[in-house]
Amino acid sequence: MLFMYFLLCFYLIFSNLTEKGDFLALDLGGSNFRILRVKVTQDKKQPVQMESLVYETPEDIIHGSGTQLFDHVAECLGDFMEKQKIKDKKLPVGFTFSFPCAQTKLDEAVLVTWTKKFKVSGVEGMDVVKLLNKAIKKRGDYEADIMAVVNDTTGTMMTCGFDDQRCEVGIIIGTGTNACYMEELRHIDLVEGDEGRMCINTEWGAFGDDGSLEDLRTEFDREIDRGSLNPGKQLYARRLHKTVRRLVPDSDVRFLLSESGSAKGAAMVTAVAYRLADQTRQIAQTLAEFRLSKAQLLEVKKRMRTEIENGLGKKTHDSATVKMLPTYVRSTPDGTENGDFLALDLGGTNFRVLLVKIRSGKRRTVEMHNKIYAIPIEVMQGTGEELFDHIVHCISDFLDYMGMKSARLPLGFTFSFPCHQKSLDAGILVNWTKGFKCTDCEGEDVVELLREGIKRKEFDLDVVAVVNDTVGTMMTCAYEEPTCEVGLIAGTGSNACYMEEMRNIETVEGNEGRMCVNMEWGAFGDNGCLDDIRTQYDCAVDENSLNEGKQRYEKMCSGMYLGEIVRNILIDLTKRGFLFRGKISETLKTRGIFETKFLSQIESDRLALLQVRAILQQLGLDSTCDDSIIVKEVCSTVSLRAAQICGAGMAGVVDKIRENRGLDHLDVTVGVDGTLYKLHPHFSRIFHQTVKELAPKCNVNFLLSEDGSGKGAALITAVGCRQRAQEAQQAAQQA
Ligand code: ADP
Ligand code: MG
Repeated sequence: MLFMYFLLCFYLIFSNLTEKGDFLALDLGGSNFRILRVKVTQDKKQPVQMESLVYETPEDIIHGSGTQLFDHVAECLGDFMEKQKIKDKKLPVGFTFSFPCAQTKLDEAVLVTWTKKFKVSGVEGMDVVKLLNKAIKKRGDYEADIMAVVNDTTGTMMTCGFDDQRCEVGIIIGTGTNACYMEELRHIDLVEGDEGRMCINTEWGAFGDDGSLEDLRTEFDREIDRGSLNPGKQLYARRLHKTVRRLVPDSDVRFLLSESGSAKGAAMVTAVAYRLADQTRQIAQTLAEFRLSKAQLLEVKKRMRTEIENGLGKKTHDSATVKMLPTYVRSTPDGTENGDFLALDLGGTNFRVLLVKIRSGKRRTVEMHNKIYAIPIEVMQGTGEELFDHIVHCISDFLDYMGMKSARLPLGFTFSFPCHQKSLDAGILVNWTKGFKCTDCEGEDVVELLREGIKRKEFDLDVVAVVNDTVGTMMTCAYEEPTCEVGLIAGTGSNACYMEEMRNIETVEGNEGRMCVNMEWGAFGDNGCLDDIRTQYDCAVDENSLNEGKQRYEKMCSGMYLGEIVRNILIDLTKRGFLFRGKISETLKTRGIFETKFLSQIESDRLALLQVRAILQQLGLDSTCDDSIIVKEVCSTVSLRAAQICGAGMAGVVDKIRENRGLDHLDVTVGVDGTLYKLHPHFSRIFHQTVKELAPKCNVNFLLSEDGSGKGAALITAVGCRQRAQEAQQAAQQA
């Protein structure tokens, strides 16, 4: 902080060499007042073309009033535009104003104090852009868009920066001396925000003005001090270079001589500002499609309600997209469940076999042992027989591993795909989702397929229940918390279940009591009812998926797809030149490269921008500081929408339960599982908040499920065994 006596901030982000256009620049504060017209083109040979005129600034103006000064500047600008025949155009203007100014925006500069030969009354403490705009407006014969105020040091840095991107320091050694450099925003307390960098005009000329310097002066300061006495001499330059290199041996410092830096630089800054303003607007416009208003979210909630009714209705069920599948789970656990059970968990990231020992009584316990098995991609997308042979092979291995090969245990099969159930132990697969696509399974009873596999392997197991993971999750949480009547998965896929009144489930006989309904809400929108909020990126993700046109809601809000949405946006922004210098790398073209866990990492509040860049680097994406800011914004926009629409769906569900029971107010618990919910830094909070906002008459409590698919399957199996025993007893009594 040695030189930071007079910290003034200057707002800009660097040139990325893609700017182009026609700009005007005013250069006030040097020996001459100059006006320039600068054309920046993509022409490699002569990217910057300039024409300029010098105007006299009479002595009485330099010592006159602010009004006189800015009237004069406006008059000269008008004259210049007249001569250039551009008076009818409203061109962007950069204003090099080489006096100490406090800036809070690029196009606002409050003069701190006049220096050098200027002493104009009524300007100190005022915004010079406002003063100039006022003078131009007063004339009324032309318009100008003043986009940036620039100090000559900054102009110098920017001019050199256009030729060499590594230029991050500007230094003026002329009548006075001053320097600027790119500082990390997190070090600039005067400006809010931690991300990215900003050019700081040090105004180091004032250093030592309070006399504090004498004992602090280093060799570096002396060199510069001596140097300023005889400017421009090569001897001096060489000694400056040498001294700087000696004092910072670890840095490779290059010196570039700036060519008409102060004015050309103003045009460069204006060009960058102009490009950035345009780019920022276009990026915001792109991301705006993902930002849903409360009215839109309420509409999502309402449509979910409509689809729920369609799925439950006898006449509408067949054509419904949200299938509302009955599960034959009629109650949550009551604590009397007891025994040893096997459970299978298929349909998530891992395939697992579990042994679950449930003990009832005063001190209820659940003890679990499990082993994870891989399902190779060729099995996931092979034949059904291969899939079930593989599953049975894993079960057999597990029993060997547990030393209980001969036990004939009741088994619960967590099978996290949409199934039509006619009983607890029969489930006809409607269609595969997520990464699965085995032949000969859709339309078949998966319990039967499993039993056949077991028979082929010549051993014996009692398959009692086929369980959806949402139901397992609900049951696990309900075992601890009786108000839990809803289950939610926010992991690879997205789905929910809840306890519905039997009288509302028209697809199952009977009107008494309740049954858990597996909503299969991932398919919400498959009839086109969400098309107005789907973006081109959602459609691209859908087109590249295994199940085109299916699971449209899931594809907007679950772990398997969020990264892909982000990747598709990044590709588009890159194509439009806003990212990665407009180059689409092979990495970016690779499907699945942007996993949802990277969203979690990038969006973490504890990460500095440098770490975001490191993550992108790991992914093979070479990013600038600006790139990483944009990538982070894209990620958070996509996950925000995911959490919100998921919340809108849940609001629809809890309000339905409340209305079912004719209540003004409902207290209910939702059991939740899924890595997206558990590990994403913001998803759960936004999800909760959305449910609260969209279902204000419900007080919804959320409980994390611990291993819902394993423990829940065992609990359902236990409930199933109990039901079966009761039925057998009734049958015996009747006989
Ligand atoms: P499943 O839903 O497959 O049963 P999980 O609930 O563990 O299993 O979810 C796994 C999914 O979660 C992965 O497919 C991935 O999309 C997502 N995921 C993994 N790690 C993270 C993370 N750190 N943050 C957010 N999502 C993640
Ligand atoms: Mg799971």
